Amino acid sequence: MRFSKLGLPRFRFEKGLHEIGAGLHAYVQPDGSWGWSNAGLVVDGDESLVVDTLFDLRLTQAMLDAMRRAEPRATGRFGQLVNTHANGDHCFGNALVEGAEIIASSAAAEEMKHLPAAVLAGLASGLGSEDSDLGRFVKRAFGPFAFDEVGETKLPTRTFEQRLSLRVGDRAVELYEVGPAHTRGDVIVHVPDAACVFTGDILFVEGTPIVWEGPVANWIAACDRILALAPELIVPGHGPITDRRGVEAMRAYFDWLSREARARFDAGMDALSAARDIPLGEFAGWSDPERIVVNVDTLYREFGAPATTPDTLRLLEAMSGYSPP
Ligand SMILES: [Zn+2]
Repeated sequence: MRFSKLGLPRFRFEKGLHEIGAGLHAYVQPDGSWGWSNAGLVVDGDESLVVDTLFDLRLTQAMLDAMRRAEPRATGRFGQLVNTHANGDHCFGNALVEGAEIIASSAAAEEMKHLPAAVLAGLASGLGSEDSDLGRFVKRAFGPFAFDEVGETKLPTRTFEQRLSLRVGDRAVELYEVGPAHTRGDVIVHVPDAACVFTGDILFVEGTPIVWEGPVANWIAACDRILALAPELIVPGHGPITDRRGVEAMRAYFDWLSREARARFDAGMDALSAARDIPLGEFAGWSDPERIVVNVDTLYREFGAPATTPDTLRLLEAMSGYSPP
């Protein structure tokens, strides 16, 4: 485990289910890098709500088994499942949460249709076997997961826009749509009685975030939204459990990167050169630094760079060849 400044010392960053409050659990997967996502469980009485599933069926099954052992009364049937967004490491295991209402923002539900596991299975078995920077990168990012077993993603059965209030037994659970930011339909999950927020991938703790969609201003606003909820306990999409310091660090990253990218854009530097030129400074210790390539590319589009359709393969290739200046 790498040294953690932003993780809460009372919760070890160890794979598995951690009770973080009464009827409140976080499932965490070190090291939080590509595909190693976190999830959550909220229970009251005999009712339950799961926040996100994992990248493949085996990982999700192990997580659901741990949840059933911890909360047998509430998990005879999982009542509700919230997908925080459409990336597979947060929804590919949906089919295993049988009988649950599956809830997501309308935008996330739509995006899920276009991100099937078969694409990643093809990427991992094709590119991932090549002896090149790109091949090694794809193998590291997507090689550990059994995408060929996932099949079709089980899609949400209930969608919403902006805000949705749920009940789990007598507990209130509030969903806020804060995307588009990381993806098109990001949602955060607030459990007010525990002052807890499950952020999905609006928060990477001590890991570099990746702005697939943007705009970055929405992501910064999402950080402010989380802080305004005055949470004491924050479960990020990736990385150790944190508190408001984790959110402040994410916000600081985007303030800093927006400034650095803008200066290079104004100086006429192209996006990839800019990404390779920016010294990482205080963020140098974060994992997955290569994501700066995607983030600067997204910022450049926001700055008005000639509209190019972001080409995932080109971005993967550029990330695979990245090394910090
Ligand atoms: Zn994720």
